[in-house]
Amino acid sequence: PLSCGIVGLPNVGKSTLFNAITQAGAESANYPFCTIDPNVGVVEVPDERMQKLAEIVVPNRIVPTAFEFVDIAGLVKGASKGEGLGNKFLAHIREVDAIVHVVRCFVDDNITHVSGKVDPIGDIETINLELVLADLDSVEKRIDRSRKNLKGGDKKYTAEVECLERIKEALYADKPARSLEFSEDEKLIIRDLHLLTMKPVLYAANVSEDEVAVADDNPYVQKVKEFAALEGAEVVPISAKVESEIAELEEDEKEVFLEELGLQESGLNRLIKAAYKLLGLYTYFTAGVQEVRAWTIRKGTKAPQAAAVIHTDFERGFIRAEVVSYQDLTGSGSMNAAKEKGQLRLEGKEYVVQDGDVVHFRFNV
Ligand code: GDP
Repeated sequence: PLSCGIVGLPNVGKSTLFNAITQAGAESANYPFCTIDPNVGVVEVPDERMQKLAEIVVPNRIVPTAFEFVDIAGLVKGASKGEGLGNKFLAHIREVDAIVHVVRCFVDDNITHVSGKVDPIGDIETINLELVLADLDSVEKRIDRSRKNLKGGDKKYTAEVECLERIKEALYADKPARSLEFSEDEKLIIRDLHLLTMKPVLYAANVSEDEVAVADDNPYVQKVKEFAALEGAEVVPISAKVESEIAELEEDEKEVFLEELGLQESGLNRLIKAAYKLLGLYTYFTAGVQEVRAWTIRKGTKAPQAAAVIHTDFERGFIRAEVVSYQDLTGSGSMNAAKEKGQLRLEGKEYVVQDGDVVHFRFNV
């Protein structure tokens, strides 16, 4: 499954947030493919569309789709030079698909700040520099190798060296590799470098518990937003402390508590939605009397491979997919009504599944 790594300097609230994530805990029996590891938290993706579908088909249960958050603690200044457990942590970041960067925007004199004062932009730059340095190391090693191959007369390395030099230049200017544009060929060249600065990032601005309702007014949050806007990244203001309290409550208590705080939705839900979007994923649904369920695919996935997310047998024996869009189904009010209007389509192997498709797969066993 896809995963988001939680990174940030020490004492910014990562563990508090991660505890809230594991407390909120997805029903793991529903997600047998997920990793069992104390550093991995499985989260269910809130999706209001499931409720609407459930009103139509009245299923026994509703199962949201899920993805993983990985707690990557211990990133400190100097990590790229092996400080702390530097390289080990950088290796963990290599394995995730996107990064949630937690920054401290709460003031609390009792809690030490690694650099002595609350300074979210300085913190972000510290972490980003480590990622840039680690990438620079990977890129320079690869350039050396490619140049040798080029000297050996293999012309195909011309483009490779050119592309790597371009990345190196960006990194020297403190720019992440993701700020560059790459052709499809170039993407292939750099794929196995697993560059840390290629991964999409969002910032979780950890504000104090008494500022949750007015987090946007917090001057530190505003600074983070300005910074993030320059690289087109999203900022989710959140209070890790409040989230860890919410996670311990029963469902009905949660709503009361959120209302008291003046919130529409928990910060964790907002964070999960933003992270899911960051991963660039689509959701399709299956809707039967047994269950209404959401499934995750990457954009561009064709019907048989989308079916494989449910079961590999579905892909092997794929015959066709019966598809109706969420909009059409909810607009028509029932599967039969949608069918009568010709909104239920029969699609074959080449069909690219769309976000919100409600799908029934036909397959041979
Ligand atoms: P980590 O090192 O980034 O994992 O940070 P922790 O989650 O361990 O948090 C460090 C300290 O800051 C702990 O004592 C937390 O209770 C505290 N903390 C985290 N979030 C908040 C917050 O929103 N407000 C306040 N006052 N303290 C917080």
